[in-house]
Amino acid sequence: MSEQYILVTGGAGYIGSHTVIELIQNGYKVVIVDNLINSSFDAVSRIEFIVGEKVPFFNVDLKDEKSLTKVFETYSIKSVIHFAALKAVGESTKIPLDYYDNNVNGTITLLKVMNNVNVKTIVFSSSATVYGDATRFENMIPIPEHCPNDPTNPYGKTKYVIEQIIHDLYNSDPEWRAAILRYFNPIGAHPSGLIGEDPLGIPNNLLPYLAQVAIGRREKLSIFGNDYNSHDGTPIRDYIHVVDLAKGHIASLSYLNNLESNKGLFREWNLGTGKGSTVFDVYHAFSKAVGRDLPYEVVGRRAGDVLDLTANPTRANTELEWFAEKSIEDACKDLWRWTTKNPFGFQLDNYKWTIFGEIEGNRLHTVDLDGFKVSITNYGATIQNIELNGDKLVLGFDNLESYQSSSNPFFGATVGRYANRIGNGGFTIDGKSFKTEINESENKTLHGGSQGFDKKQWLGPIVLKEDDNSVSLSFKYIDPNGSNGFPSDLETIVKYIVSPKNTLTIDFESQIVGNNGDVTALNLTNHSYFTLGDDVIDEYQVELSTPKYLALDSNQLPTGETKKLDSTSFKFGSQQFDDDFIINEANELLDTRSQDLKTLVNISSSSHSIKVSSTEPAFQLYTGDGIFVGEFKSRAGFAVEPSRPVNAINSSNAKQVILRKGETYGSKIQYEFA
Ligand code: NAD
Ligand code: UDP
Repeated sequence: MSEQYILVTGGAGYIGSHTVIELIQNGYKVVIVDNLINSSFDAVSRIEFIVGEKVPFFNVDLKDEKSLTKVFETYSIKSVIHFAALKAVGESTKIPLDYYDNNVNGTITLLKVMNNVNVKTIVFSSSATVYGDATRFENMIPIPEHCPNDPTNPYGKTKYVIEQIIHDLYNSDPEWRAAILRYFNPIGAHPSGLIGEDPLGIPNNLLPYLAQVAIGRREKLSIFGNDYNSHDGTPIRDYIHVVDLAKGHIASLSYLNNLESNKGLFREWNLGTGKGSTVFDVYHAFSKAVGRDLPYEVVGRRAGDVLDLTANPTRANTELEWFAEKSIEDACKDLWRWTTKNPFGFQLDNYKWTIFGEIEGNRLHTVDLDGFKVSITNYGATIQNIELNGDKLVLGFDNLESYQSSSNPFFGATVGRYANRIGNGGFTIDGKSFKTEINESENKTLHGGSQGFDKKQWLGPIVLKEDDNSVSLSFKYIDPNGSNGFPSDLETIVKYIVSPKNTLTIDFESQIVGNNGDVTALNLTNHSYFTLGDDVIDEYQVELSTPKYLALDSNQLPTGETKKLDSTSFKFGSQQFDDDFIINEANELLDTRSQDLKTLVNISSSSHSIKVSSTEPAFQLYTGDGIFVGEFKSRAGFAVEPSRPVNAINSSNAKQVILRKGETYGSKIQYEFA
């Protein structure tokens, strides 16, 4: 049987994104449908980064029956979790038709398509707002599911109507299984700090507003009334951590899946903690997480607010065996982490992406810091362009196909699993031999084989603004056991840091993951070819920080001897280099990032210069003599590839290139341009 998927509508949104992560981490396969009307694709790439796999994504409006049907035809879908909706209470009073059209008609289209393809299990995002003012009754706080419904605004009414529609559908066809989840007040963010709520415009909700006060985007919080009958005069709500809420979806989905065959169900469950907190309780918890008292002012009551909306979650606790576990303190900490890492949510000045080529989801990411511009694509986590004041400083293609081609001389690529050459067609670790793919003459493996890291689609990036106004882009790739002959599943993160000082720093980190092996050979580098304004490199002035390089045999493998250049200061002229220079023989660390960056080489032309530094013990200098591709000719650029010495894995000193489970491999490279 083909693999079965859960379709998550609105999966790029706040609660949807957290739920997708929980689903995947619980072994489910997920397809996301979202028209991004209130979210951004960056949420999806961050989900993929966190879970370590691609998640099929369709930019489809639920009301588009044809496109939605296509999603169900493309993937074998078992059930649907339906988040997609417009959700702003205030806005819904101004544009009610849009709310009814989007929420109600969108759901009707979804249900029709599901019916057509015989998918009859749905988990629906409803809201405590369907109860309206539960304080109008006696004994209805905490609110049980049987509390009569009376939503007071168009948004709440769309939720109420949709519940009724699903109920009618179930009455007409009792094969349907529907979980109606009535959320109380979702707060917080993913503990990773990478996913969270990203409200557009002025936030309506308490914590998003408070977070923007704390980060300096808003002056002070307005507290809407302190004359309610609570311990401090402010209204009481049931705040639930969004990760707990997400888990409630897994619990209800498995409840529906575990019903006896042929049994349908329509049932409402409150998802809340059962514990009420006042506005001041939340204010104090968040101020504590931030570390200072945040400015506020008590103003008049907000129209429509009531004293107490606390859930009675007993039904979900007993039937779904689901309990909210996290506190508002946890939520405040997680929200603050998300806010400090992402002060403007997923939006970032100076960063843009575009689609790059035909591979599903492949993009080109560009950071532009006042004329210092760096573009990186997911394919190969490849540096496609570096520009300083309009001048291109690396060789790169303008199309994905050229990167995919075997004639690509590794332009800008992340090189792995093993940079440079491996002799003898493989290596032996702990007495066990591994054969790696031969892709160069005389039994050599060059740059990890023909389908190395440079030919893989990387996940992410996570794009963050760093403290010094740098922008970092982190890509992740999990290389499976056996890939090009290398053992064990290997997770690698490449982080590029673009700084306003015209530097690009690359941080490599790898670890063995999974249970398919516990050792590998590893050597990572970046293979950019630099150009400093001339058509060929011959006039460039070179200042090497070491004269020492490895003597090579006719097979381009080290003989064990070292040699020295007569001078470390020269013009390239017509000299050809494809040599491994030794910068620090004593450096035997597996993770060299604790070392200071050492300058390897300075190279300059009449118009520009580059300084390459790294924490690595060696670097290959290549004069690009073998470049003959597209518009690029021999010696159009030079490569400096900091890494571990060539073929170290077959030397007596292989320590630095053997990674074992539990250990971390790391290295750092920096390019400084002028
Ligand atoms: P959100 O806006 O972050 O997520 C909703 C997602 O649905 C967005 O990504 C949006 O782009 C998408 N979407 C909207 N209309 C669509 C359409 N026609 N087709 C495709 N995609 C569409 O909101 P959220 O806070 O994650 O809420 C998720 C669900 O939970 C909503 O149904 C909301 O009403 C409900 N809910 C939210 C809260 C809350 O406080 N956040 C409380 C109770 C219920
Ligand atoms: N609140 C507030 N100031 C704000 C936003 C909200 O005092 O800027 C109060 C509001 O009166 C309510 C509580 O915080 O008592 C939660 O409001 P929110 O809009 O977050 O959720 P609601 O419970 O209204 O859905």
